[in-house]
Amino acid sequence: MNIILLGPPGAGKGTQARFLCDERDMIQLSTGDMLREAKDSGTEMGKVVADVMARGELVTDEIVIGLIREKLEGDKKGGFIFDGFPRTLAQADALGELLAEEGETLDAVIEMQVDDNALVARITARSTCGSCGEVYNDHTKPIPADGKCTNCGGSEFKRRADDNEDSLKQRLMEYYKKTSPLIGYYYAKGQLSSVDGLGEMAAVKADIAKVLDA
Ligand code: AMP
Repeated sequence: MNIILLGPPGAGKGTQARFLCDERDMIQLSTGDMLREAKDSGTEMGKVVADVMARGELVTDEIVIGLIREKLEGDKKGGFIFDGFPRTLAQADALGELLAEEGETLDAVIEMQVDDNALVARITARSTCGSCGEVYNDHTKPIPADGKCTNCGGSEFKRRADDNEDSLKQRLMEYYKKTSPLIGYYYAKGQLSSVDGLGEMAAVKADIAKVLDA
């Protein structure tokens, strides 16, 4: 089963993708994570995208489609979760073609609905474990008092450089201008389901499970 988690930054796509990986042996394909890795390891491509990402703008379709193409050729396990991809109509078309080339189908597109005020609050409070990527929130899921990640015991936590209000404004603008048209695109294809992304993590997870098991 291959699915897209669609929603603005901070909607909880990464958190829910991690649950799906653990429980359904799926593979999370986060283009944001791939680009951050490229940036941190200082590759040529990483250098090209660093400024664009810091400003909260989208990197070119060509780059992200190339990243996804490589991953689709590898092990497919329980299927792919596309997290933060596609973000433009051109990327959505390309994904359809890449899946078809691999003899795969897109089984569901889950839109995670959240209001903008909640996004700002979530994103400016967010941090992740440097070792395993477990997501924390200063208010709703603080880093444990002993300073150790509940998932892996790691003790280094990171805040994303682009999780600040200025960059977030730009990321939201990009979302509404370029990514939100995908809601209509997948609706028209009969593939869209929507869940309320504002609820408790467990409630959102249950709503997603209902869609996938339907
Ligand atoms: P994310 O971790 O999904 O919030 O992505 C972080 C940043 O990486 C975005 O603000 C963009 O600059 C870039 N990025 C991630 N995925 C894509 C994509 N599919 N298309 C274009 N840019 C992307």
